[in-house]
Amino acid sequence: MAEKLKLGLYWAASCGGCEIAMLDTNEKILDIIARADILLWPVAMDTKKADVETWPDKHLDLCLFNGSVRNSEQEEWAHLLRRKTKALVAFGSCAHHGCIPGLANLNSRAEVFRSSYHDQPSLDETKGTEPQTSFAAPEGELTLPRFYDGVYPLDRVVDVDYYLPGCPPPVPVILTALEAVFSGDLPAKGTVLAPAKALCDTCPRNSTLPKKMPDIKRPWEIAANPEDCFLAQGLICMGPATRSGCESRCINGNWPCTGCLGPTPEVKDQGAKMLSALAAILRVDDESVMTDEETRKLLAKVKDPVGTFYMYGLASATINRRRKQGESVAAGKEAK
Ligand code: SF4
Ligand code: SF4
Repeated sequence: MAEKLKLGLYWAASCGGCEIAMLDTNEKILDIIARADILLWPVAMDTKKADVETWPDKHLDLCLFNGSVRNSEQEEWAHLLRRKTKALVAFGSCAHHGCIPGLANLNSRAEVFRSSYHDQPSLDETKGTEPQTSFAAPEGELTLPRFYDGVYPLDRVVDVDYYLPGCPPPVPVILTALEAVFSGDLPAKGTVLAPAKALCDTCPRNSTLPKKMPDIKRPWEIAANPEDCFLAQGLICMGPATRSGCESRCINGNWPCTGCLGPTPEVKDQGAKMLSALAAILRVDDESVMTDEETRKLLAKVKDPVGTFYMYGLASATINRRRKQGESVAAGKEAK
């Protein structure tokens, strides 16, 4: 019998959904553990950091790292697991592109702390107390990780071998990737382990993709027709700028794609690509184009442009955070 692989799973700034996606493999998890010993999985096992530090370098064959890097402890783990792992995989949108936690890059650390520890109406007598990285207790010094000013995708912190996209990664995508690992049939380093086609190319509604989009609506404003392309109904659907592999789950649930699998291989900036796709169809009829003023009025109907076009990709976008005049920390430089 072939020697079993050594597998690790880790979570950093994450919601736990990626861990649930692993459990969603259902009985297939038995096939996984028949072929790999899981040595690290904080959500399920109590492996200590001190134990991991004693492992020889490259001890793990594969580590699935989910969550983005938001504090110094997560960064330490990223470096540790990079050393201890042959193939480090950014697992899920948070590790891949920053995802929902990355939207916090619209605010500084000071603003996040002010909201969380000063302004929340539900705060009790602890109101105004911010967490400290060091506290002298009678028993000795207590420490907390340093909370960074920004949120970083994993590859802004350490070298990454592969990416498994999605929020969370769809089970078929996980199983196909693991099969490639088990069979030793892995593609070139840096590959995103998911189909390369755009979601529109695989969408059951793509025969109704429109050439014009005269209006923009929000999903609650209309009862969407379950047959036609959302863009044809005035609803922004990220399908043109998003990788397939999700089996059109949101579309089949009659909800527009929000872009969780990230951009297709030829696209660097998913939000910019979607804006460009929209710009090509914002028109009232096939011939005439809208004036700048008409276009501006229409785009003003998008009430949350960052949340719409960069819900998953802000932290890895070309402009990856909001910066204010006078700020000195260069984006991406805070984590070492
Ligand atoms: S990628 Fe999505 S499911 Fe996974 S940790 Fe991030 S927010 Fe949760
Ligand atoms: S824009 Fe959305 S609904 Fe339309 S074809 Fe593409 S994925 Fe399907």
